[in-house]
Amino acid sequence: MAEQPGMRQTPEWPSYGRDGCTGIRVEGAERCLAHVDLHARRLFLAGLRPGADVDLRGTQVSAALLEQLLAAVRSSDRPPRLGVVQCERVQFVGDVVFDQAQFTEDIDFTEAEFLGSAQFRAAVFDGSVSFGEAEFHGSISLDETQFGGEALFGKAQFTGPASFSGVRFGSNASFRRARFTRIASFTGTQFNGTAFLDVAEFNGNAQFSDAQFNGAPGSAKRSSGDLSKNVGLMNRLTQTGEVLRVVVRLTGPVLLGLALLSVRNRVKR
Ligand SMILES: [Zn+2]
Repeated sequence: MAEQPGMRQTPEWPSYGRDGCTGIRVEGAERCLAHVDLHARRLFLAGLRPGADVDLRGTQVSAALLEQLLAAVRSSDRPPRLGVVQCERVQFVGDVVFDQAQFTEDIDFTEAEFLGSAQFRAAVFDGSVSFGEAEFHGSISLDETQFGGEALFGKAQFTGPASFSGVRFGSNASFRRARFTRIASFTGTQFNGTAFLDVAEFNGNAQFSDAQFNGAPGSAKRSSGDLSKNVGLMNRLTQTGEVLRVVVRLTGPVLLGLALLSVRNRVKR
């Protein structure tokens, strides 16, 4: 508790600088999108179009505000579409839903805090995505989501259940030093780049049934070495008496490292 990254630090972006608000100023206004007057907020939302870039760094975003925002980047009944999204250190208050959202550029949710549940079901991320050091206090679901670029979840904290079922990682996926307090499901997840799971901590059930580790194209040389090491690691774990019935197809590099060693509960199908 000693170090509280986030709200108290002076942000790198122009902010109001008082009342503890770190939200980036809305262009032409003194306050952030959460704290500007209704007129300025309407003006901001009216300026958005599908595929728009959105910079909300440090802002406290309620579920209602997010809904308005996503409605503004949606044309008729199509899913919301966003360009570059900068949500570094954004605090999402309430349950947020990004289902089927299309993110066409790089996305930054570094150190974002989700106080309620977060849903990104069947979302599509074309660019690289960072949820590094993000904190998920409620459940998070990314079921059936597609990541085209790198997906970084390093040091992220998942306090509620986390589901990555059916997720397709097109490039590298990193969960280095991520911490899962409750169930973590990677059922049927496809890792098509390198999967960095080293030093991740699974304190609840970790499910990797039918997950596929396919590796990045052209990394075959490296994969054979890592593969044998990881198979060794899995064998060793099985001997400790943990229930380990992981059905994984290991055809690429998987850096499990110490991940499974810190499974305190059990890994099951
Ligand atoms: Zn503010």
